[in-house]
Amino acid sequence: MARPCSVCRHPRRAEIDQALVAGASFRDVAGRFGTSKSALERHRREHLSTAIARAHEEQAATEATHGEALDALVSEQAARADRLFVEAERIMRAARRRKDPDTALAAIRAAAIALREGTRNQALRATLANAGEAKAREERLIALEEELRSLHHAV
Ligand SMILES: [Zn+2]
Repeated sequence: MARPCSVCRHPRRAEIDQALVAGASFRDVAGRFGTSKSALERHRREHLSTAIARAHEEQAATEATHGEALDALVSEQAARADRLFVEAERIMRAARRRKDPDTALAAIRAAAIALREGTRNQALRATLANAGEAKAREERLIALEEELRSLHHAV
């Protein structure tokens, strides 16, 4: 049966983890938070890396959810703009048949607004797609740099 980790149960664990991640020495952290060097060493080795990995995963999941929600909102707005445009065109044709220039003009204005909104939405969608691509490229670059570093260490 493993001994419970005194650092994990420490009331200021978050601060301790932060100090360790920031690269503070075990001696310094032990002195500051009234714990022992050996407990800190064991905690970092056995518990801290898992906690960091989990935090990264949670952050990535949150970002993905936000991206999807934004995407859905933009698609919804685009669909709305499309419907508005179709409707405005229908009113415009009917008004022309009735020789009702005022209504036709109002419908043309509404169609133009819907069209402009649709164009803005398209631009926004393109920006979102590019942001996703840029992020993927950046992640690839980070992975490559890490690979390179580990190669340097191996040589
Ligand atoms: Zn621990």
